[in-house]
Amino acid sequence: MDIDDKLSQFDVVIIGGGPAGMAAALWSDELGLNSCVIDSASNFGGQLHWIYNPITNYLGTNLENGEAGFRDFSKSLSRRNFTQMLGCLATSVDVAIGNVLLDDGREIHARAIVVATGVRRRTLGVPGEVEFNGKGILDSGSRDKSEASGRRAAVVGGGDAALENALILADHADKVYLVHRGDRFSAREKFTKAVKRNGRIEVVLNARVREFGGSSDLEFVDIELASGGSSRIAIESAVVRIGVQPNSGLLRGIADLDAAGYINVDRECRTSAQGVFAIGDVANPVSPTISTATGSASSAIKCIAGSVRKTE
Ligand SMILES: Cc1cc2nc3c(=O)[nH]c(=O)nc-3n(C[C@H](O)[C@H](O)[C@H](O)COP(=O)(O)OP(=O)(O)OC[C@H]3O[C@@H](n4cnc5c(N)ncnc54)[C@H](O)[C@@H]3O)c2cc1C
Repeated sequence: MDIDDKLSQFDVVIIGGGPAGMAAALWSDELGLNSCVIDSASNFGGQLHWIYNPITNYLGTNLENGEAGFRDFSKSLSRRNFTQMLGCLATSVDVAIGNVLLDDGREIHARAIVVATGVRRRTLGVPGEVEFNGKGILDSGSRDKSEASGRRAAVVGGGDAALENALILADHADKVYLVHRGDRFSAREKFTKAVKRNGRIEVVLNARVREFGGSSDLEFVDIELASGGSSRIAIESAVVRIGVQPNSGLLRGIADLDAAGYINVDRECRTSAQGVFAIGDVANPVSPTISTATGSASSAIKCIAGSVRKTE
């Protein structure tokens, strides 16, 4: 099948090539299904490319970082038969006819559609957040820690990722302000205890970020305090870690989503839309992990393979 055809046909079309989509491709080949994986990025791997710390909690592996994980996962796929479509954004699905429409106008037809679109970082949506991205606002405390060296930094958020970033930056920056809108952190105890003990981290609770500002580079963050009043903190670096949101827009109005926008699935990873499955983080707010991503992929593909066999 030439993928340049306007309409290409498969047993399974998998939207998203993170760990869930990669595992779905592997299981499709394992079970003799003809599959296609679409990803809007220039490479598969999804969030693996955002992980700069070791991954020590995926059974049988001890990975230096997400890139190392991506390399190993890719090796598992190197001899597998499936079609890859990189740099292709899926813009809509037509459940009635089993079609996925791409941003370049092509359509992919399949007997089953698997949505593995993961999550994206939540943003504050305040002035300066986009303008100072890369000009003081760092993508990752772990990757960009040297940029905060000898500077004052702010980390925004109260979960594991925020506290972990604050602790990493505190090893390099002169001072780290940890700004959180709540009155307590939701992060695990190991991080909250370490933050309390760290003399370079100043915790600012009950505070909402209103603006990041500066002339050409980041110079300050303005915060509003729940007790009333506001404050301007001079900083040169910042990291925002206020959680993630599911990339479930493709199924909005088509399948059931929960209040936070995650796709509701049953134990076979079926959504409420006929022939449409959802796997990985986009359908798993409780356990957004590589294990769940790969495990849910095998559940969905086994279920699809069973249905395909019945109709043949
Ligand atoms: C900093 C960090 C540390 C982590 N540490 C661990 C850890 O130690 N252990 C662990 O188990 N997990 C960890 N995770 C979580 C783990 O990375 C995720 O659970 C996993 O990547 C989820 O895989 P996924 O395939 O469901 O989604 P993702 O990895 O988010 O992949 C989704 C893919 O879908 C693509 N996509 C989205 N929308 C479209 C569209 N419309 N059309 C085409 N393509 C689309 C995206 O480009 C992306 O490639 C960590 C995550 C982060 C960010």
